[in-house]
Amino acid sequence: MPQTKSPQTKMPQTTMTEPTIRDSRLEPVARKVLAGERLRPDDGLALFRTKDLLALGWLANFVREKRYGDICYFNVNRHINPTNVCVAHCRLCAFGRSPDAPGAYTYALDDVYQRAAQGVSEGATEFHIVGGLHPSLTFEHYLEMIRGLKQRFPQVHLKVFTMVEIGYFARLTKLSPRDVLLRLKEAGVDSMPGGGAEIFNPRVRKVICDHKTSGRLWLDIARTAHQIGLRSNATMLYGHIETYEERVEHLTLLRELQDETGGFVTYIPLAFHPENTALSHLPKPTGWDDLKSIAVARLMLDNFDHIKAYWIMLTPPVAQIALRFGADDIDGTVIEEKIYHDAGATTPQHMTRAELERLIRAAGRVPFERDTLYRPVDRSKLPPAGPRPDVTLTLNV
Ligand code: SF4
Repeated sequence: MPQTKSPQTKMPQTTMTEPTIRDSRLEPVARKVLAGERLRPDDGLALFRTKDLLALGWLANFVREKRYGDICYFNVNRHINPTNVCVAHCRLCAFGRSPDAPGAYTYALDDVYQRAAQGVSEGATEFHIVGGLHPSLTFEHYLEMIRGLKQRFPQVHLKVFTMVEIGYFARLTKLSPRDVLLRLKEAGVDSMPGGGAEIFNPRVRKVICDHKTSGRLWLDIARTAHQIGLRSNATMLYGHIETYEERVEHLTLLRELQDETGGFVTYIPLAFHPENTALSHLPKPTGWDDLKSIAVARLMLDNFDHIKAYWIMLTPPVAQIALRFGADDIDGTVIEEKIYHDAGATTPQHMTRAELERLIRAAGRVPFERDTLYRPVDRSKLPPAGPRPDVTLTLNV
C-alpha cells in the first residue's frame, strides 16, 4: 500500500526545553518519547492515568511539532447522511431510528445529489457519507448513488461507508466484505471514514452496540479495504463505560494493523455524547479527557501520520487547545452534521473556510488546506465556487 506523503514543508527547528514532570510514573515514558522509541501498552496506561496533563500535552506537542511544525491541516468537505433508518439500535446512538419512528428519514437520490451540489458550490473537495443500516434499501441503490455522485462531481473525493456498513452490505447481499468493497471501489468510492470502531473490546460492545459488527470484524474489513487499495481513517469512541485498559487495547490493535497495512490515514478520537441515547444517564466526557485522548493517541500511534481534533465533537475552543496537545488536523467545514447533533452537540453544524482558518491562526498555528489524502489543495485549479443551491428536501421515508 503506497503511503501518501504529507507535503514537504520547511519545519522550524524544535527549540523546546524538556518538560517539568510532576508524576514520577511519566518519567520513563518521557525518556522514550524524547528518544523516539515506541511506547508499550503499559506506557499508554501510565499516560491515561496521569494527573499531569501539562507534561502529557508537552510530550504530545513535542512529537507533533517535530513532524509538522506549526502547520494545521483542514479541508473543505460536505457531510451527507442519506438515511437515519437503522436496524442496529445501538445504545450509544441518538441518530438511528426505526423506519416508522418520528424523525426517520431517507433521502431520495436527487436529494443526495442536491446536497452534494451545495457542497461543491461551497468549494468541497470531499463528500463524507455515512448513514444508518436501512432494512430495505438495496446494495444496488447505494452503488447507483455512488455512480451518480462520481458522474456528476468527478473532481470530488468520495469518502464513503464505515466498516460497519460494509459488514451490513455483506450480510444483505451474501457477498464477502472483499467483494462488497471491490464493487464499491469500482462504482467510485475513493476511501473510507473511520467510524463504527467505538471500543473494540467485546465487553464494552455488548453494552453500547450489541447488534453491530464486532471489533474483530471491523479490523478485518479495514485490513481488506487497505489490501485492495482503499485507505481509511480510524476512530475510538471514548468517555462512556470503557476502562483505560480497554482504550489502550483499542489503540494497540489499531497500531498493529497499521504496521501491517499502512492503510490508515488519520486517527480521530470521538467524545461520547450521551444526550438522547439509551445511555443518557452517563456523564459527558470532560475537556480534561478530550485533551488527554488526543495526546495519548499522538504518543501511542507512532505509525499514524495524522491525529485529528474533530471540532464538531470537541467544540471549537477545545479543538483549538488540542492543536497544542498533539493534534495536527481540525477536520473540515462539514456543512451539515446530524449524528452528534442528534446526541445533543451544541456546536454549529458548519464552519466556513475563513472561520476555520481564523480558528487555527488564533491558536498560533498555520492553516494548510488539504484534500482527503493530505495533498495540498490548489484552488486555482478547481472550478470556481458557484451560488449555493437551495436544498428542498423530498423525504422518501
Ligand atoms: S451507531 Fe450506526 S449502526 Fe448503531 S444505531 Fe446508530 S446509525 Fe445504526
